[in-house]
Amino acid sequence: MYDEISASGDESPSVSGCGPLLPTASASAKPLRQQIFEHVRGAGRAARTDVTRALGISAGSATTLTAELIATGLLREVEGLPRETGRGRPPVALEVVSEACHVIGIKLSDEVHSAVLTDFSGQMLADASLPTPPTRKGLDDLLDEIGVLVALVLNGSGKDMCDIAAVGIGLSGIVDHHTGTVPWSPLLADRDMDVATAFVARFGVPLYLDNDANVLTLAELWFGAGRSMTDFAVVTIEHGVGMGLVLDNRLFRGSRGMGLELGHTKVQLDGALCRCGQRGCLEAYLADYALAREAATALHRNPRNLQSPNAMLDALFAQAKGGNEAARTIFRRAGRYLSVGLANVIQLFDPELIILSGERMQYDYLYSDEVLADMHKLTLNDGRKACRVEIHAWGDLVWARGASALALAAVTDKIMGEARA
Ligand SMILES: [Zn+2]
Repeated sequence: MYDEISASGDESPSVSGCGPLLPTASASAKPLRQQIFEHVRGAGRAARTDVTRALGISAGSATTLTAELIATGLLREVEGLPRETGRGRPPVALEVVSEACHVIGIKLSDEVHSAVLTDFSGQMLADASLPTPPTRKGLDDLLDEIGVLVALVLNGSGKDMCDIAAVGIGLSGIVDHHTGTVPWSPLLADRDMDVATAFVARFGVPLYLDNDANVLTLAELWFGAGRSMTDFAVVTIEHGVGMGLVLDNRLFRGSRGMGLELGHTKVQLDGALCRCGQRGCLEAYLADYALAREAATALHRNPRNLQSPNAMLDALFAQAKGGNEAARTIFRRAGRYLSVGLANVIQLFDPELIILSGERMQYDYLYSDEVLADMHKLTLNDGRKACRVEIHAWGDLVWARGASALALAAVTDKIMGEARA
């Protein structure tokens, strides 16, 4: 194409234009009505003057659009703000009509599934969990388990499935958020499952899917430390090593819905064998199976009669705490590889904060001062403030809460789209 144009000698004005062909984020911004709604939901309660100031809009627009949002039953007025002076009516605030819609967020795992029921303001109304056998399942069996879990979380809430606007689910594996399909998951026996279509056929409610690291990142963005940040990363250390990334205040999903597989970035050429079949992956030095592999030797266990990785790691950690040098060395080595992985994340994305999360964070060797010092040593230091690292141990429900944010965001887009039409 370029050759054709430059060689043609045709001096007629170009009609192909220039510049990016896709709209920028600001051009495709949400409708003003939705921005007002989301500002009020973010603040909990806000006066019209706060909305006007925060969004840089005229008082007239704020009055007209909030009146529409009140008329459609999405916002309401409450007397919730303190009086600035001792006289007159207390100022009126706006808040989300929390009962206008409900969603369920679910985290599926190979040990315990968990679920939360959430209202339109993001308040968690109920939670439930369901132990599950650690075997790969057919899609029908998994939907059966989801049905039981949903009944548990709705039990006593006065709601049933037809009151639910959407369900969000997070699970590990390769999950295509845009199509609702799961090309591969360690929870499913079969590949390329159209989970969203099967879910709607079974329950009659829209389903939004994402991989578990992304829903955890959404939990931080909606309910946690990430609420006030535009650029941050979440690194999870569980069975594997996952990562979620928020850039410019939005979850970054990449182009193929694979999630950010920090665990399979290479930290050693021709290194240790990873469960993905390749060598030298970060996960091959850091994940529980990698540590358990070394633990068997350090603890002098019979390799033909090994405990579960969890039990093995707990025993290894107890030994390390008790002064067993071989056990300590295993955790220290894992920590050094983690520092390489984190330094690479900092170098690539320059986040304000990295949040370390996941079950393995109980092993404090993985985030010792030594690990963080190594991470800083491996990062270019030009005198600016270093990237902060925080450890968040939220417990099991945080994943399900993040999945409820996935559903809430989708339902909000849908309702605001309908209100505009
Ligand atoms: Zn790998």
